[in-house]
Amino acid sequence: MTDAPAPTPSRAFVSLIGAGPGDPGLLTLRGQHALQHADVVLFDYLANPELLRWCPDARTIYVGKKGFSEYISQEQINALIVQVAQENGGQRVARLKGGDVFVFGRGGEEAEACVLAGVPFEIVPGVTSAIAAPAYAGIPVTHRDVARSFAVLTGNTREGGAQYERLSGVDTLLLLMGVRNLDTIAAELVAAGRDPQTPAATVQWGSTHQQRVATGTLETIGQVVREAGLEAPAVTVVGEVVKLRDTLRWFDNTPAFGGPLRGRTVAVTRTRDGSSALSEVLRARGADVLEVPLIRFGPAPDGGAAALEALRDFTGWLLLTSNQAVAALFSLLDAAGRDARALAGVRIAAVGPSTARSLAERGVRADFVPSTPGARHLGAELPAGRGEAALHLTSQLAEDELQRGLEARGIGYARAGLYRTEAAAPTLNALERLKNAAVITLASGSAARHLAALASADFDPLHMPVAAMGPQTADAAREAGFTRVTVAGTASLDALADAAERAVGGAA
Ligand code: SAH
Repeated sequence: MTDAPAPTPSRAFVSLIGAGPGDPGLLTLRGQHALQHADVVLFDYLANPELLRWCPDARTIYVGKKGFSEYISQEQINALIVQVAQENGGQRVARLKGGDVFVFGRGGEEAEACVLAGVPFEIVPGVTSAIAAPAYAGIPVTHRDVARSFAVLTGNTREGGAQYERLSGVDTLLLLMGVRNLDTIAAELVAAGRDPQTPAATVQWGSTHQQRVATGTLETIGQVVREAGLEAPAVTVVGEVVKLRDTLRWFDNTPAFGGPLRGRTVAVTRTRDGSSALSEVLRARGADVLEVPLIRFGPAPDGGAAALEALRDFTGWLLLTSNQAVAALFSLLDAAGRDARALAGVRIAAVGPSTARSLAERGVRADFVPSTPGARHLGAELPAGRGEAALHLTSQLAEDELQRGLEARGIGYARAGLYRTEAAAPTLNALERLKNAAVITLASGSAARHLAALASADFDPLHMPVAAMGPQTADAAREAGFTRVTVAGTASLDALADAAERAVGGAA
């Protein structure tokens, strides 16, 4: 007798996640975890799309509602969440919502839809813009002696005056969604008994590099905001705490906040593994980073057999020209049941300090690093004599420059494939956002070629400003047809960020 197979339990699960107010660092760890395990992500226009980098392989669905022009109704969103969760034998859905899930986010309705459909769910609270936007403007919602209570209200409501009278004992008022009705709301607050001289501030796009703040009093705030051109999304703070901005202002008066990359989208096109360090440098300069990995690494077609064979009994110079080569070499050795001792008989040259660091992290010191990073300098400076042998373990895409340089000096050059570089197709979503990038960074010739290959009738990367990691990458970019290439002075992340700044400034 055989047992009937047990029914497979459905994977259907919905995480309602508060994405925070905008700064991608304000996502919670639990929110990040849920994104990393999601099959499908539904996000809206207040959830920073940068957060999608935690779920590169998930299907993403934009369900944006912006202001009053709703693309998709709340009922449709509720239905969609349930439907997607139940598709394909059950999927993990991450529903990313701006700020906190339950603060005017209609998260309650989405959770109810899950309950009705019998789909299990979790709530991942987020940092609400009601508190965070003022905080990033240097305004605490409470402060001993100044304000001991606050209320969060919507400026959309028709209730108006009545609700304001009820709130007369509350020290700080936080108005969401009210930026268009500020004049009316302010007048009603005064009619309900608030002093027209009460300080007020409106914070647009709080915690992002587009943050803008206008300050006034209940009497003036409507006009001040109109003159400054502030629009949704914005939080308006009414109360004595607003004065604290004079002393507590911190986020929007730092040098990075005023730099040329501030609020500009910079696309980072390296592989996901290699990109985060550059992204951090760019973010620190105020850029909104769009990570679009254009290349990914895979095993060499022969699984690295030729590389292992070439290493056997080799005693010359081993040339490693990327972090990826170092990583691939060590995983190859590991898979073969070996370790760094397999390199005992060779001398090792690293193409630059970053590759040397990768080696050092694995307990191996590079015997040689050229004075300037790059294949050209490695070829010219490698301290090898005529007749000595060099073995270059690299990808199938290695350019010939190193080989030519060494052979011109009478050094024997051999190459074996250690890993494979292949094109990674960006998601449609990423591609759509790439079109609006102010500048695209290119860290290698292959990234340049893959990007050029994406050109189509409605995407023209070749005429967008690009910042290239070094002269070789710049040459490759020009060869691939890019017309607005800015070159980094040295092969460092800071120099690449400098080049991005220059590119954005228009000086190619
Ligand atoms: N659940 C969200 C609020 C959604 S209602 C939260 O907890 O933050 C949408 C309103 O939120 C906007 O109209 C605006 O008033 C406010 N808002 C959201 N993000 C904001 C931001 N980064 N800066 C200022 N206001 C923001």
